[in-house]
Amino acid sequence: MSYRVIEDRKLLEDIIGKFGNEEQISIFIEECGEALTAISHFRRGRISIELVIEELVDLFITLNQMRIIYDPTGEEFDKIYKYKIQRIRTILNVE
Ligand SMILES: [Mg+2]
Repeated sequence: MSYRVIEDRKLLEDIIGKFGNEEQISIFIEECGEALTAISHFRRGRISIELVIEELVDLFITLNQMRIIYDPTGEEFDKIYKYKIQRIRTILNVE
């Protein structure tokens, strides 16, 4: 069992199964761009915060699909995640 839980994992596995890895990877790449654009537009007062959050949700959903595609067991993700969180704790000098 993976330490870092992916919410709605079964649903995300189903969408990957329906459209395939390559299609979902392409969508993830597009969502990265949409999130970057949304943040940039928000910073220049062109769109609302709600639209930024919507793009962040799209990115979150597709990012979790990438975790399933590239690291199905989640073991490597968890190992690196824990390492990086510990590094942040060290930088901040907290336990
Ligand atoms: Mg989007």
